[in-house]
Amino acid sequence: MLETLRTFTLAESPSTEKIAADRCAEFIAAEWHKREVNVALIPQKSRGNHIRIEWKPSSAGSKGQLLVLGHYDTVYATGTLEKMPFRVSAGKAYGPGVFDMKAGIVQALFALDVLQQINAPVRKKIVFLWTSDEEIGSESSRKLLEAEARRSDAVFVLEPSLGPKGLLKTARKGVGEVELIVQGKASHAGLAPENGVNAVNELALQITKMRAWNDPHRGVTVNADMIQGGTRVNVIAERARALIDLRALRLADMRAVEKKLRALKPILPGAKLEVKGGFNRAPMERKVSAALFARAKSLAAQMRIQLGEGTAGGGSDGNFTAALGIPTLDGLGAVGDGAHSAHEHIIIRKMPERAAVIAALLANS
Ligand SMILES: [Zn+2]
Repeated sequence: MLETLRTFTLAESPSTEKIAADRCAEFIAAEWHKREVNVALIPQKSRGNHIRIEWKPSSAGSKGQLLVLGHYDTVYATGTLEKMPFRVSAGKAYGPGVFDMKAGIVQALFALDVLQQINAPVRKKIVFLWTSDEEIGSESSRKLLEAEARRSDAVFVLEPSLGPKGLLKTARKGVGEVELIVQGKASHAGLAPENGVNAVNELALQITKMRAWNDPHRGVTVNADMIQGGTRVNVIAERARALIDLRALRLADMRAVEKKLRALKPILPGAKLEVKGGFNRAPMERKVSAALFARAKSLAAQMRIQLGEGTAGGGSDGNFTAALGIPTLDGLGAVGDGAHSAHEHIIIRKMPERAAVIAALLANS
């Protein structure tokens, strides 16, 4: 498993570098090709090609499908390996994207091996989908993965698990980004301030207003993460903009925030407001995961593996499939820490354990 993880990691695959990503996709596809499955690369214009693998075991009926979902793109530019090499130390494997989520792909591969080697009576066709742009919003893969999810009875997402205990993710916040643009009116700050409309002031007022929408107890957060405005001192700012991060744990709260966004009105006379964007991923509510989690927990317990659950503040493609109402269980991937950071790593001895859980789920769903 470690050797396969090394191969996948050494093929750097940033979401935004197609040539590198395609090369990584070839490496991943080659590994799956060694098994008795159908492998298809789905060509993309500007993003890496997606990988779709289909396995129809002889024991499977004519109906039903299980989807194993993940992404092979990472947030690391090519060349990151030079300062952050793939290395193994004290039972951990380090490297760009090992945790999020190349080890997850490896674990799914070995789960397939187990099922094929023991001739497990798998009842449904299994589709593995490895996409190339999850880290940048899944623009090129969303339709594909949603279509595949609609054909499926359950979706198992091999994103990293949560915390040192490797909790599965049974809820995820919905995530959005909004751009707030204020158009004011420039004027001399000394000679004719009364003729100006200060866009920076207007933006500050709006951000202050939006701050009150935060409701940490319900998992609603609204954060202005970037602001820009004005041109120089002595000139009343004509334009200002902010990028605002939105999160909500419940669908109803997401809708409420969206409604408030649409209802925003200028506060200063003469100012104009433009609101772009909104929620990109709806929340994955726990009810969509509950039954699958109960199944996973009981199957794991039979193997003397303890499984817990948690809520993730970030979104994944699991949010998309859950929003369609398809039972979705996320965080089935690696146990480790440091996603998107220099100390990203996985716990090596957890890899076979996690592969076993996936295999059990696929054989019993
Ligand atoms: Zn991920």
